[in-house]
Amino acid sequence: MSNSDFVLAIEDLTVSFDGFKAIDALTLYVDKGELRVIIGPNGAGKTTLLDLICGKTKASGGSIKFKNNEMTKLAEHQIVRSGIGRKFQTPSIYENLSVFKNLEVSFPRGRGVFGALAFKCTDDVKARIEEVAAEIGLADQLNTEAGLLSHGQKQWLEIGMLLMQDPELLMLDEPIAGMSVRERELTAELLERICRNRSMIVIEHDMDFVKKIAHKVTVMHQGKILAEGPMDKVQNDPKVIDVYLGH
Ligand code: ADP
Ligand code: MG
Repeated sequence: MSNSDFVLAIEDLTVSFDGFKAIDALTLYVDKGELRVIIGPNGAGKTTLLDLICGKTKASGGSIKFKNNEMTKLAEHQIVRSGIGRKFQTPSIYENLSVFKNLEVSFPRGRGVFGALAFKCTDDVKARIEEVAAEIGLADQLNTEAGLLSHGQKQWLEIGMLLMQDPELLMLDEPIAGMSVRERELTAELLERICRNRSMIVIEHDMDFVKKIAHKVTVMHQGKILAEGPMDKVQNDPKVIDVYLGH
């Protein structure tokens, strides 16, 4: 397999903050249609890695190729437009708008809330909203004010807002934090569904959840990759038990 077959090819990626290498010559490849989970102790550099991929933080060195195009020189909005969606840890939905409106403003034609609210809701957009709402389990909540949703439903809505842009790579940072057991199960099913048409990178701490969703697991430690492979192999790796799973 040549590097150009990967949806994402990260090579020798480094970022230093005042001389401290939060990401240190990291190389990582993600396949088309793969759901990769990244685990590792606090401070390992997991969130920083997503910040680099989505352009929020600029690399000090190395390369990030998405579908064979270099991303490290692009602005955040150009990276979004090329097909990478990223969900942050805290949901950023519009609490006083309905679920429908939240999805509508996320349709790529819209330019922020006001631009998007101004355009007429065409049948195409409406169909897309209904499709996404069904996918995230909120089909019967379209008229509900987003602020009234449960914590889990808010997280799903934000995933739905990203899906409106139909990204080929979707990145989620700790998506089940604060969710109930039932919401976690439903989220695992949701991620499996979403992954049928795209690749995903998920950062997560809950090992039962990781086992359920991961195709492959990457363990990070001190800005580097400590181990990588299927969950059953990684969780029996003495290095991984030593720095992470043993605690
Ligand atoms: P994780 O998500 O794995 O817990 P982070 O990526 O948040 O870890 O952080 C990795 C390290 O980089 C931490 O030591 C953190 O303090 C440091 N760090 C992250 N962002 C910055 C920044 N903007 N400036 C300085 N240090 C940072
Ligand atoms: Mg983090």
